[in-house]
Amino acid sequence: MSFDLATRLAARRAEHLYRQRPLLQSPQGPEVVADGERLLAFCSNDYLGLANHPEVIQAMRAGAERWGVGGGASHLVIGHSSPHHELEEALAEFTGRPRALLFSTGYMANLAAVTALVGQGDTVLEDRLNHASLLDAGLLSGARFSRYLHSDAASLASRLAKAEGNTLVVSDGVFSMDGDLAPLPELVAEAKKAGAWLLVDDAHGFGPLGATGGGIVEHFGLNQDDVPVLVGTLGKAFGTAGAFVAGSEELIETLIQFARPYIYTTSQPPAVACATLKSLQLLRTEGWRREHLNRLIARFRQGAAEIGLSLMDSPTPIQPILIGDSQRALRLSARLKELGILVGAIRPPTVPAGTARLRVTLSAAHSEAHLERLLDALATAWAELAHG
Ligand code: PMP
Repeated sequence: MSFDLATRLAARRAEHLYRQRPLLQSPQGPEVVADGERLLAFCSNDYLGLANHPEVIQAMRAGAERWGVGGGASHLVIGHSSPHHELEEALAEFTGRPRALLFSTGYMANLAAVTALVGQGDTVLEDRLNHASLLDAGLLSGARFSRYLHSDAASLASRLAKAEGNTLVVSDGVFSMDGDLAPLPELVAEAKKAGAWLLVDDAHGFGPLGATGGGIVEHFGLNQDDVPVLVGTLGKAFGTAGAFVAGSEELIETLIQFARPYIYTTSQPPAVACATLKSLQLLRTEGWRREHLNRLIARFRQGAAEIGLSLMDSPTPIQPILIGDSQRALRLSARLKELGILVGAIRPPTVPAGTARLRVTLSAAHSEAHLERLLDALATAWAELAHG
């Protein structure tokens, strides 16, 4: 007896949903070498262009020399070192919260926060387009799990009315495949009315959003107690790796005591924390990165609209072009690659059926000339697709 993996894989291929990993043979950046080709890339989450910043690289190098290359153990054993601690304090200050807790990945931070806060007899309510890690966390928690309509406060309210036990409302801040913002003031109001807690995963908001890069909470001018559980990731605008949960003293102590994805894993290499301390400083002080990025976003939306592309309601560096059919999305992505442009086609199950798209992401590392090359290639490829 054996698992029939070949049939499963063949079905995936037949549906045009087979995934392949491009092989990156250069550092991350606007101009990359992938699969042996020199390409202009519009698909990384390095929104502020910090992944290659010389000062961040130097901080990591110095950190490795001082602290070695591995975390060595879990935080609770002997893996919690001074750079981790210093970064937690800096992230708490950055988010205006009493405490922050560092994780090795955003996936784990989300699993940890949700599963430590709700369990059997409780309720977790999630936006239906939340990131997979949040949805997985809700299922794993054992709480009653329900998904409300995307960014729909009325749909959330009707579920809150039926909720039992401790209730956690969970939303992305910026939706990772659409680029739109959660209607946070409305979610805050509904959660407060129902006595529920709100968890916001602002993986894509920290850095690009808010006057000082403070993310969606800063963007909407909300208070700490409006969003008691705030998650951020460090592998996107921060340019490094890892994640954090920020909140009250009691919240962070609860995670340290009860969150299995925190307790049973090795801490991130301290040198990564050293690098992130530097990138946090740059994210806060080099406001020109955000301003340049916002100019690129505006120019992209104007140029794409002129071509007749179907954009989504996104003010963020995530600028998906809606195609619909998976095969067409793949064809467009392949043609762009021939024209020297790398943009990923995102297909179900990552996005709902019939909403395949090209996920264009912009970065402060892109120049205006890079953006014009993207728009020229899109105009060519789109015209060919329409006639082909
Ligand atoms: N949350 C969101 C909204 C994300 O987009 C991602 C990563 N794409 C994660 C969490 C997971 O973060 P990480 O990559 O650090 O595991």
